[in-house]
Amino acid sequence: MEAYYPEFSPRFAAFLPLLRGRKIAVVGHARPDGDCIGSQVALARVLRTQGVAPVCLNPDPVPRRLQFLVRDVPFVRPAEFVADGHLAIYVDCADVDRPGSGVKAHFPAPFGNIDHHLSSAGFAEHNFIDPTSAATAEILAGMLLDNGLPVDAPTAQGLYAGILTDTGQFRFSSTSRRCFLLAAELLARGANPAEAGYELYERESLGKLQLLQRFLASLKLECGGRVCVGLLPAGVYAATGTAPEDTEGMVDYTRAIDGVAIGVLMEERPDGIKASLRSKNPAYRLDLVAGQFGGGGHACAAGLTLSGGRLESFYPQLVAALEARLRVVDAAAKEQEARIK
Ligand code: 5GP
Ligand code: MN
Repeated sequence: MEAYYPEFSPRFAAFLPLLRGRKIAVVGHARPDGDCIGSQVALARVLRTQGVAPVCLNPDPVPRRLQFLVRDVPFVRPAEFVADGHLAIYVDCADVDRPGSGVKAHFPAPFGNIDHHLSSAGFAEHNFIDPTSAATAEILAGMLLDNGLPVDAPTAQGLYAGILTDTGQFRFSSTSRRCFLLAAELLARGANPAEAGYELYERESLGKLQLLQRFLASLKLECGGRVCVGLLPAGVYAATGTAPEDTEGMVDYTRAIDGVAIGVLMEERPDGIKASLRSKNPAYRLDLVAGQFGGGGHACAAGLTLSGGRLESFYPQLVAALEARLRVVDAAAKEQEARIK
């Protein structure tokens, strides 16, 4: 059978023995999502079968809705972590700063890096980066299966959940034949779509829906209806009894409107501003827009974090940057059209 990752898999097979006898930290990013936690769990479980006892390290706790993936895999925060010659393998982290300064301080030279971000920098000694993949879990699943490594049911479930969440339940433009082939193989190894669907999408709190209610009430159209922006002002979590992890998926509503090309969620935090950007079409290259403000990500899903700043002043700045981006994409489309004619 043809390999899922013909280039990476032999390198991954050569990478694993380098970890034997070493202490390993599997590092994930701030505000971890399903792809991050699912990939960390899966990698940690497979490393265990190779005589390595890894620990997963994240700057933020595992969100409640993802706890079903964890089981007995140890997750620690930077304050509890004692570095003792650990080798670090980063997963789903576009750059070395994504896990935060507390984590970065422990690992001046990351050993491994498995990621699918367009803006991924290749900051480790051994990099497995493929932006054509919908999820880090997709790359990991492919490399594990290509090498015949032991994928048990909880490992398969972590990988399945990673692919499921990062493809928007197999809807986004990144969803490929390979995603479906891997999902089928993971099901054969015990992944459970009904359990994942229930845990991820049918256990919302009332507070979360009330947070969503406030967010939807704030939606505004900009750039002639091609951009939609929603706001989460300071104090909104306290008012609804929610936490930042409850914003998961909310930005998708901004993009769901007919005629909107780019959706934005802007959140005011005690220490600054966080913005999430989503587009319907990869031509908008939102990673470039986020990059103008120190962020990054994918063509259709990018984000940025500003320390300091207020919504009132950042809002027009971001809308102006998006307007400029729309102009560039429009001009390129027009040129292409003229060439065809
Ligand atoms: P989200 O909007 O869900 O937080 O993130 C969407 C994507 O944008 C993520 O996959 C992540 O790669 C990227 N992203 C989000 N926030 C940041 C950030 O502060 N810095 C960078 N470099 N990328 C981010
Ligand atoms: Mn991901």
